[in-house]
Amino acid sequence: MRLILLGPPGAGKGSQAKVLCEKFKTPHISTGDMFRDAYKKGSELGRMAHDRYWGHGALVPDDITIGLVRDRLSQNDCREAGFVLDGFPRTVPQAEGLEKIVGELGQRLDRVIYMKTSQEVILQRLGGRRVCKVCGANYHTINMAPRVDGVCDTCGGALHQRPDDTEETILNRLRVYEAQTAPLVSYYNGKNLLATVNSDTPVQGTYVQVLKVLGVQ
Ligand code: AMP
Repeated sequence: MRLILLGPPGAGKGSQAKVLCEKFKTPHISTGDMFRDAYKKGSELGRMAHDRYWGHGALVPDDITIGLVRDRLSQNDCREAGFVLDGFPRTVPQAEGLEKIVGELGQRLDRVIYMKTSQEVILQRLGGRRVCKVCGANYHTINMAPRVDGVCDTCGGALHQRPDDTEETILNRLRVYEAQTAPLVSYYNGKNLLATVNSDTPVQGTYVQVLKVLGVQ
């Protein structure tokens, strides 16, 4: 299965990717996670991407992002089992870059799932999102509160708000999405790859729709 999850910040791409990857036993490729990991590890690329771009809600330049994805998709696990892309591509040049990478690997994309989400739901989800600093598990102050306030149910790590989930940065990410990523909806529609689901629903409701458009149970 070679799948792209497309949608605004807060659409729930990460949550769907997680359950889909468990079901299809495919690697979950999140460029956002790659940038956050690189920053946590203190690499030069990680620091630069944070300080200049994602820390402010801006996109990391296409050539850097495409290069990271090229390296990742060339690894054996992706060659063998496919992938679920979460947060990539985010621009038309990235989509073109991906087409090239996939073509060079002798593969093709199966489907692009557009997770349509209302602005109201996006703001509510991102404002309440909390993430475990240790294992990366996601929570929400209202929709998915941890058993103990501020503590991860899974590993006991401390929960925090993503630095780019502050109100000002969220608004910037949404502007960037509209200007640079939303055009991918018609781009992939034109390639007959697009399927749309309503992502205002909770994770399970969206998952059922995704399985339906993929034609699996
Ligand atoms: P995400 O976790 O997908 O919301 O990504 C967090 C941040 O990482 C984004 O706001 C961007 O700054 C950066 N990022 C993630 N994926 C991409 C991408 N495909 N292209 C450029 N920047 C990206």
